[in-house]
Amino acid sequence: MPKPLEQLPEGEIERRYRIGGVMTDVLDYLTSGFVERGFEWSLPVVFSESTDPLWPDPGASIEKRIAVEIYGKTVRTTASMIIHKMVACSLLYPKLFILSPNVRIEKRERALSGRHAYEFTQLDFEVRDASSRDIRSLVEGVVCGLVDGLRRDAVEQLVYLGRHRTLKTPHAPFKCYDKEELEKRYGEDWERQLTLEITEPAWVTGIPREFYDFEDDGKWDNYDLILPQYGEVLSGAKREWEYEKIIKKMERDGIKKEHYTLLLKLAKEGRLKPSAGAGIGIERLVGWIVGAQHLGETQIFPKIPGMVYDL
Ligand code: ATP
Ligand code: ASP
Ligand code: MG
Repeated sequence: MPKPLEQLPEGEIERRYRIGGVMTDVLDYLTSGFVERGFEWSLPVVFSESTDPLWPDPGASIEKRIAVEIYGKTVRTTASMIIHKMVACSLLYPKLFILSPNVRIEKRERALSGRHAYEFTQLDFEVRDASSRDIRSLVEGVVCGLVDGLRRDAVEQLVYLGRHRTLKTPHAPFKCYDKEELEKRYGEDWERQLTLEITEPAWVTGIPREFYDFEDDGKWDNYDLILPQYGEVLSGAKREWEYEKIIKKMERDGIKKEHYTLLLKLAKEGRLKPSAGAGIGIERLVGWIVGAQHLGETQIFPKIPGMVYDL
């Protein structure tokens, strides 16, 4: 398990320094890439009445939800900025992205997955009137360009981390798998099996998830990006925007409507617009690039489920 910074031996400090160099390059590439593609860069928020319910995502495993009272109102810490993205994309910016800290108090056993922290950062982005295909093409361009750029410009770091030979620039378009087909082939363990089988990043579509992902006749228009030998790094979807559909899904899933008052009001008034987007887990992306055992190795102050360090 990644130790706190002050307990790391010298050799490990050197490795972390190199990982940090890759993190800087990744953030630089991603943020400038989105700005160049015409996205507005918004700052994140911590407290809001609405946040991602993280339910009923089959992958969700939350031990505790954080809600506090301020100024006589109950607010929640950001689990993801999905609701904010939908609202901002409808009312203000047709294309936006946010580097957003997400607090998810994952169950303790998730420390062992090596892929979960209880605080992490998503690069969350949303595009008005976009289709799933638009977003998938955008992500493919970003991922291929990023790896290509790192292989060219971060040679020293990648060689030190033992990844220069094994990290290959992927080829777009990525293969696309249907979740139901994967389940038929692999059973419940499909994600792990697919992760081990693929040699290039791959899409999985049609995953039953939270109310905000678009669903038509039981077919979900959403997508996860799976990295070879690593696992999920991104989730995204085309979004629901129609009031009646959102209400029905909330009722079906047992979601508290009073936590989503503004979203529902905007939907009812027809002010919520169709959009699509996704969120990339930054620590997972960098963890894959540098070959980290645990994504806590990409965090200066690791937030490992069940382990609370001083910083
Ligand atoms: P998983 O099923 O792998 O736990 P998720 O599907 O619940 O993840 P999403 O809600 O889709 O996660 O979050 C969007 C992205 O944020 C994920 O694709 C992943 O890259 C990242 N992410 C989610 N949970 C964590 C976590 N606990 N620690 C680090 N990154 C995470
Ligand atoms: N960021 C994800 C998305 O855009 C939502 C999430 O984090 O759950 O769909
Ligand atoms: Mg997901």
